[in-house]
Amino acid sequence: MTRTAIVTGAARGIGAAVAARLAHDGLQVALLDLDETACADGVQRITDSGGRALAVGADVADSGAVTDAVARVAEELGPPTVLVNNAGITRDNLLFKMSEDDWDSVIGVHLRGAFLMTRAVQEFMTQRRDGRIINLSSKSALGNRGQANYSAAKAGLQGFTKTLAIELGKFGITVNAIAPGFIATDMTAATARRLGMTTEELHRAAAEQIPLGRVGTPEDIANTVSFLAGEGASFVSGQVIYVAGGPVD
Ligand code: NAP
Repeated sequence: MTRTAIVTGAARGIGAAVAARLAHDGLQVALLDLDETACADGVQRITDSGGRALAVGADVADSGAVTDAVARVAEELGPPTVLVNNAGITRDNLLFKMSEDDWDSVIGVHLRGAFLMTRAVQEFMTQRRDGRIINLSSKSALGNRGQANYSAAKAGLQGFTKTLAIELGKFGITVNAIAPGFIATDMTAATARRLGMTTEELHRAAAEQIPLGRVGTPEDIANTVSFLAGEGASFVSGQVIYVAGGPVD
């Protein structure tokens, strides 16, 4: 039976690359994002390459929408056995300027979103005794000026990952986190705007700090997801893999 994956935040950036890579690996993929129509291009590209994909609109922080979305994927593609919790937002500000909404929305999408999605899919995974859950953390989990909300959420996802690896291991489910460094996407383009720099200037400055001398690409993360979702990673669980072009501290 062909395996089914759900990738959240799959309309663009890292999520779109992950969806394409999992489809290339032979999985059926549900591309979930706030706006279903924003996933249409990604679905088309997968379908054109001979794969099977479905666009699903849902806010990962909305419990009812998540329940409906996961049920729809199970019905239209099949029971999900891979979940990539990738949907994310930033609302950067120094603490004294950070609003409650900046805090709540970031914690809501990353932490509540991963919790709701994982709770919804674990039912299918535990029944089949097969599952791969991959959470997108970040190097910012270790601390990053102007990102108290995001850093707390990404560090929280690491604890979430390790705890679920302990709880779900006996059902044949692995749970891991990928913590990217600087990956060139719309999210980092927004950071450049906030800092008053062009995207190219920010990329150049970031690359100078990275031992491998370049910023990351969405495909760098998709390759790591592919490994964690594949047969070769069946004994890897509870890990946080930094994909940052060098060591992190
Ligand atoms: P991105 O380009 O901003 O894409 C994020 C996607 O998530 C967007 O399509 C967005 O939809 C969607 N999304 C936001 N809120 C959502 C919600 N409530 N429900 C469903 N979908 C939602 O970001 P990215 O750079 O690809 O980042 C992907 C993940 O990697 C995030 O978790 C991010 O924190 C993490 N990460 C990124 C970097 C980096 O350098 N880029 C580094 C470390 C970690 P809309 O377009 O409608 O907002």
